[in-house]
Amino acid sequence: MDPGLEAAFRYVERLLFGDMERPGLTIYDLERLVGYPARGEGPLSYTLPRNKSLSGVQAVRLFYYPKDPNLQLIVEIEDLEGKKHLRHFRWNGFTWEVPEGKRGDLKVTEETLGLVQLGEDYFLGFPREEARELAEAVRKGEALGAKYLLCPRCGARVFYAPSVRPAEVSCPRCGNATLLFKTFAGSEAPKDPLEALAEEQRALRRTLEELLSYLKRKLGP
Ligand SMILES: [Zn+2]
Repeated sequence: MDPGLEAAFRYVERLLFGDMERPGLTIYDLERLVGYPARGEGPLSYTLPRNKSLSGVQAVRLFYYPKDPNLQLIVEIEDLEGKKHLRHFRWNGFTWEVPEGKRGDLKVTEETLGLVQLGEDYFLGFPREEARELAEAVRKGEALGAKYLLCPRCGARVFYAPSVRPAEVSCPRCGNATLLFKTFAGSEAPKDPLEALAEEQRALRRTLEELLSYLKRKLGP
């Protein structure tokens, strides 16, 4: 968890909803802050002045949308890495509420973990360290039972975390949306088709050579 980001979220929560010492921000306060209507029809923004609670983030901005009855306030918290965390609110005449289907929790939530490529394989929904450990276990053939998606078109494997809905994943290498559900069962490294063909030819040649030497022995020189 990022403590600076957490402190900023706590600060914004107090600002919007108030605490024992002071009331929360009303829509009228917000209008004053952004300069509505003097500065136009919006959307209008206001950057909170820096203070101790906000020292662990780059900026906190309030965006006011005067014309949208369903969404009037977007809070944007920009963390030190430049990532923006957005939360959505509407004024219900009394306090701020979260519009249906929008995100308004004023907490640091684990962002959806991205896709990591390690070696030939892809790892989806794992923290980086976990993905690395899993990749190592896969390489050693020890990640028994790990779930993955196999692309029948290009052979890519996508190992995914339990939080991932695999039906919505498409192949990160070729974009194929129809992937096969697989469970890792040890050393079953996908064979390169050319390599498999070459192996087959070598086996065939050996059989022929054995047959020839057998015939030579039987029939004499
Ligand atoms: Zn593919």
